[in-house]
This record gives sequence, C-alpha cells and structure tokens, in this order.
Amino acid sequence: ERISDSDKPVKDTFQDALSSRCSAASKGYLVDPYVSLFGLFQKKTPMINRGTYIRTRAVDDLVHKFLTSGVTKSQNTQIISFGAGMDTRYFNLLDDKSLEMDKVSYFEVDFPEIVQQKSQIISKNPELNSKLLNLDFDPVSCILNSQHFKLFAGDLRLFNEELVPKLISLGFDSSTPSLFIAECVFVYIEPEKVDEILKWISSSTTFSVMVSYEQVLSNSSFGKMMISNLQMRGIKLKGLEKYPNLQSQKERYLRQGWSLAENKTIWEIEKKGIPPSEISRINKIEQLDEIEEWMLLSSHYSVLIALTHNHSTYSNEELA
Ligand code: SAM
Repeated sequence: ERISDSDKPVKDTFQDALSSRCSAASKGYLVDPYVSLFGLFQKKTPMINRGTYIRTRAVDDLVHKFLTSGVTKSQNTQIISFGAGMDTRYFNLLDDKSLEMDKVSYFEVDFPEIVQQKSQIISKNPELNSKLLNLDFDPVSCILNSQHFKLFAGDLRLFNEELVPKLISLGFDSSTPSLFIAECVFVYIEPEKVDEILKWISSSTTFSVMVSYEQVLSNSSFGKMMISNLQMRGIKLKGLEKYPNLQSQKERYLRQGWSLAENKTIWEIEKKGIPPSEISRINKIEQLDEIEEWMLLSSHYSVLIALTHNHSTYSNEELA
C-alpha cells in the first residue's frame, strides 16, 4: 500500500518555478541556456513572464553583490540554496567570467524526489556535468557531490537534526561568509521551523546574508483569493499565518538575532530596482494590458535581504 504524501503539492511547486523560468527565457526576458535542459517549455502569460524576470533579476543582482562585495571579494564564500528545485543559477554563475567561482562552495537542498530527478539530469547531460569537477552521484545517500557544487536531499523542517550535519559533512564552514537563498520556499513551511533556521544562522555563523523571495498578502481581498486558489491545489501558505506583510517579515529576522533586514515588493523593485533600459527592453517583448492587475499581483510578492552583522558594503540606503 502506498503511503499518501502530504508534501506532494508543495514538492510539485518546483514545476511552476521551472516552467515559468523556461517560458521567460524562451521569450527573451532572461538569458538562461540551461533551464530548458531541466524541463519542457510551457507558455505563460505576459504577467507571469514579467514577474519571473523581475524576481530572477532582483535575486541575481543580490547574489552578484554578495560575490563581489568588499567582505567576500577574493575570499572563499558559500552559497546555500534552500528548496532549490530545478534552479539553474549555479550553472549561469559559472558562465560569468567576472566572478571567481572557484572560490565559491555552492550547496543546494530539496526533498529527495527532486534531488534524485535533478541529479539524474545533471549526471546525464554533458553541457551540465562537464562543468562540475570530480562529479559523483550516490543514489543511496541522495547526494550529488563535486568539488564546488553539492546537491543533497533534506527536509528544511528538520534543520538542526538533519540538515546541519549534512551541510557540515559536505564541507560547510560556519566561519566562511555565506549567502542563503530561499526563493519561494519559506512560505510553505511552518513559521516556527523557519524561525529555527534563521536563529541557527544568526547564532552559529560568522557573517551571513539571506535573500528570500515570497508572497506578502497583508489581508487584501486579492491576497485571500490567491490563498484560496492555492488551497484548492492542497498548498498552504503557512508562513503568512504568522508573517503576513512586509513589516512582520522584516521583523522576524531581527527577532531571530539578525541585525538588518529590508524588503520590497516586486512592484517597487520594478519601479526602483531595475534599470529603465531593461524595463523598456522587456516592454517591447510583450505588451502588458492589465496594469491594474499587474500592480495587484506584483504587490503581493517581495524580495527580502537580511544580514547577520552590519557591514559597510550593505548600507541601509543601498538596500532601501
Ligand atoms: N527555489 C526554486 C526556484 O525558485 O526555482 C524552487 C521553488 S519551488 C516554488 C519550492 C521548492 O521548495 C520545491 O522544490 C520544494 O520541494 C521545496 N521545499 C518546500 N518545502 C521543503 C522542505 N521542507 N524541505 C526541503 N525542500 C522544500
């Protein structure tokens, strides 16, 4: 008899993220030569393409800043992607010759099914596996290991007991400056469990940055509609029960011992965080007719950056 998997709807969300990136890349919003190796093309609406572009660009910019900032430049650093799904960021970073990627250890974690599937794709595809030194995939432990890139199975809800030991066994070093990425992940997890992760990072690592992308819904009627649409697919936005808006999401970090947190909605980032030349470029790709609807949708997603310790590279003005 098969045991029903109550996490299945959340696991399946990696498909949404993947197909959205595939669509945005094929339309020319994003340059990502790898995404089509992980999934089949599915056409998305102009609004989804635009949102995918802006959030990817916003997170990419913050990753870039971390890798080139004063605190990390020419030093060893670590990037840890929580709930990485079929994210292709690592392969795209390797193509950026302005970065010293041989100084970066990159860790990705997700549920076993997803890690299994992603590892198989990477292992079989020369465009991907030729980029990873000393590549080895062990299906029993569900770990894809290579010199700089490590993909492994784990449950974020078992952070202290399961994930931390695995990270350490794969070479994670708590005194190396670290960037943690959670792209549309924390919102699906019980807020207390995520708080444990945040607490561990702020108290056990020397210097860490978090970049998190997720829904912010306040109590708007549009937000309630989004929640009920997802509920029909068996997906609960658990994080919003405790942290429903921009302010409470920022405060959560401070309460867990972080020293600085800033966030902005996708709508605000589009207005202030993306170069105007880029906006006019994407305006030419597809016409956005429903501006009102786009404003509503894009105001319900945000990108957050938080730091465990104040650092001059990340001044308040720069983040705001
Ligand atoms: N970050 C990826 C991206 O942007 O393409 C994937 C985003 S997808 C919406 C959410 C991912 O989080 C899924 O791959 C899911 O399996 C993973 N996830 C959710 N809860 C998790 C948990 N408790 N432990 C590990 N992974 C989890």
